[in-house]
Amino acid sequence: MDTKIHEMKKVILHLHLDGALRPETVREWLEEDGTTLSLEDVKTRLMVDKDCKNLNEYLEKFDIPSQVLQNAGRIERATYELYEDLANQNTIYAEVRFAPSKHLEKGLSYEQVVEAAIRGLEKAKGKYKVDGNLILCCMRGNDNQDENIKTVQVAKKYLGKGICAIDLAGAEALFSTANFADIFAMAKQNNIPYTIHAGEADGPESIRKAIEFGTKRIGHGIRCIEDKGLMQEIREKGITLEVCPTSNIQTQAVEGEHPIEKLYRSGILTTINTDNDTVSNTNIEQEYEWVLRDTGLTYSDLIQMNINAARAIFNSVQTKASLVSEINRQKDNRDSEKSAT
Ligand SMILES: [Zn+2]
Repeated sequence: MDTKIHEMKKVILHLHLDGALRPETVREWLEEDGTTLSLEDVKTRLMVDKDCKNLNEYLEKFDIPSQVLQNAGRIERATYELYEDLANQNTIYAEVRFAPSKHLEKGLSYEQVVEAAIRGLEKAKGKYKVDGNLILCCMRGNDNQDENIKTVQVAKKYLGKGICAIDLAGAEALFSTANFADIFAMAKQNNIPYTIHAGEADGPESIRKAIEFGTKRIGHGIRCIEDKGLMQEIREKGITLEVCPTSNIQTQAVEGEHPIEKLYRSGILTTINTDNDTVSNTNIEQEYEWVLRDTGLTYSDLIQMNINAARAIFNSVQTKASLVSEINRQKDNRDSEKSAT
């Protein structure tokens, strides 16, 4: 492992709780529920392989996570374990997202789901040097407007108390971003910040819609590379892209070379994220290693992308500034190391 990458202070904007469960924990839960599988079998069911064809196939890997995450104790534990893993990778701040509507099958209320995740987050914050907040995902789909409205209402109730924003997730190519205008109008009215998955499975039009809804961040957004005018708009509006390289390659959101370097060099505020550590069989350190190996970007660029991320978190100006200065301190340390040699 690259120690410089390991030691780098990291800020993560885009990470799904149900896509980042520890396989060992899922195995334990399946066993409790009456299904005994080997760890290898569990991994096969949770992780995509090289033959993944598109986002819809990728999303099938969320079936087991949804099935097992139906009680409060498990949701709390999953959140705690994820932040524990993040802390061990020197992540200093992470915004983890999930859809409360996916965890109601065994009688939990939206509030109970959200409170369980917040408890897990708080427990990890108490034990490790990691900070963060949770984003609640509305889901793309048919006839689920009531669920999405409830998600926005719950986000409002817990805003600033562990919840920092809402998102729109799910099968982008099947359910157009344009269908969800009401949700973001409601979020705006209630001063709830938001990010929107767009420009992943669907093209530039979906990004345009997200921008029209007033988003400051876009989940993935990589397909803006197909439209120069759109790239310019993203740059001028200071919108931050939450890029997840391995996930993008697996869902075949990109053809050929991943555009991260072009996006970054064009002056668009770019960040590196994992999307789903387990489903994509990755972690933030592996993503950084990929960036250094497969693109012309450097350690300094990775540090800059963490500064971009710190500035884009859904949090106070003070928290952003303190993260930026913590990230900058390591840069200063490295510079003084360099001048000393
Ligand atoms: Zn995502």
